[in-house]
Amino acid sequence: MDRLLVALDVPSATDALALVDRLGDVVGGFKIGKQLFTAEGPAAVEPIVAAGHRVFLDLKFHDIPTTVAGAARSAVRLGVWMLTIHASGGVDMMRAARTAAEEEAALRGRPCPLIVAVTVLTSLDERRLREVGVARPLNEQVEALALLAREAGMDGVVASPLEISRLRAACGANFLIVTPGIRPQRTPGTPSDDQARTLSAGAAMASGASYLVVGRPITAAADPRAAARAMAAEITDATLR
Ligand code: C5P
Repeated sequence: MDRLLVALDVPSATDALALVDRLGDVVGGFKIGKQLFTAEGPAAVEPIVAAGHRVFLDLKFHDIPTTVAGAARSAVRLGVWMLTIHASGGVDMMRAARTAAEEEAALRGRPCPLIVAVTVLTSLDERRLREVGVARPLNEQVEALALLAREAGMDGVVASPLEISRLRAACGANFLIVTPGIRPQRTPGTPSDDQARTLSAGAAMASGASYLVVGRPITAAADPRAAARAMAAEITDATLR
């Protein structure tokens, strides 16, 4: 199921590769974030790319344009399929990343990675946003940054389940929406880890998500392969409807 991406939030490349072995033929790619990349660096990415899997490098670049451009070039050299940057880094930073990624990809004769922008971290609420100087309502800030990302040539955004419909309407059918915070349909009262705003895989797809990022519901399941298969089936059902 190419829409289903598994978050490899594990401490070592050994743990990550064990998950890749178990899930590689069921899911559409693997997300490597700051925990694993800080521990293992390219050694965590290279074997997964070499095995033919799509890697989503979620390092949320946010720096001056030259530095982010350099990081985007390095990501292309690693062979990643998708990467993240912060829309709040501004249009110049986003454009520099796009241009650098395209140049490096052309130089190496490989496809340019998809670049998706993070708008507002879901850990921030309106009060915390105001503390960092953002006065407008959270929803408006998310939408404004998504539109800015589109204008700067980004392929899409990362968005929480509850933001999908609004962003799909604002940004159009061709803009990618990559959504974490997915939980299996559950009976009321059962915990959902630390994710406050969740949706089932089927409901997220029905709202207009392009890709779903799922971590613990798969990686911490008693049978990760069965959990991934169940979620893949739910996504297939939702996309056929
Ligand atoms: O384990 P879980 O399914 O909650 O993992 C979701 C993944 O998506 C984690 O890697 C988490 O860091 C990431 N993420 C998120 N919420 C966001 C952005 C990224 O949960 N708003």
